[in-house]
Amino acid sequence: MKIHALQTGTVRCKQFQLTGASNVLSRLYQLIFTDKWGEWMPTYCWLIEHPDGLTLVDTGETAQIYEKGYLPDGGLYHKAVETRIEPAEEIPQQLAKIGFAPKDIKTVILTHLHGDHIGGLAHFEHCKIYVSKTEYDFATSKKGTGNGYFKKNWPSWFQPELIRYNNADEGNFSQSKKITTDGKIVVVPTPGHSIGHQSVLVKGDNHTTILAGDLTYNESTLQQEIADVLLPNTAAKQTVKAMHQYVQQQPCLYLSSHDWNAPTILAEKRVYHE
Ligand SMILES: [Zn+2]
Repeated sequence: MKIHALQTGTVRCKQFQLTGASNVLSRLYQLIFTDKWGEWMPTYCWLIEHPDGLTLVDTGETAQIYEKGYLPDGGLYHKAVETRIEPAEEIPQQLAKIGFAPKDIKTVILTHLHGDHIGGLAHFEHCKIYVSKTEYDFATSKKGTGNGYFKKNWPSWFQPELIRYNNADEGNFSQSKKITTDGKIVVVPTPGHSIGHQSVLVKGDNHTTILAGDLTYNESTLQQEIADVLLPNTAAKQTVKAMHQYVQQQPCLYLSSHDWNAPTILAEKRVYHE
């Protein structure tokens, strides 16, 4: 199964999210009162050429972020994250570069519902779209907007298939959900970065490719078990530990949504090792 990395713009967050800082007060101080931004990072989504049909994991950012009212005017959101994208970098143009169009996609799996992962949704009304039920329920609750989910920007037709994990263990993950009939595309719950965050496992003959979303920013932070979180939480700690164990138990390509190295790991089939 061929997998393609498709970059839709760049993003940056505060430095502590990359280096880790367990002290909550220090994190809040840095978030609100400092301008210590990390480097600009890519925003990837992934195309999987599966025999059941083309499957897209996340839909990337949209240039609508520059339209007035699309993002909040002020507040904490702009203290936490900045995104950049040109219209020519959106998902339809990235698909076109490898000879595909949105209409060719059959299935979309969303790792979570933050804007830089669902900005391209408008192009995929014809697809079966999977989201974790926990993520969807939280994002559509009263708490959603205050936690970085902007339902007002979602397409009005958006009624995803809500994943309840019910298949067997997947390695040391106690729950999973098979997406394809051959069981080669599987999702596992990886909460922490967001409440219902999930990662996609693509099982090949020689290795499993992990489309980890925002679980960690890269392989190095996985090794150090630094989760990609604004504020530390128990779920994130458990998730990052579980994933760190998983990648040591079998040959894996570990691909984070915001890791500049991800396309090289993919192209060179660079199996995770320490
Ligand atoms: Zn996110």
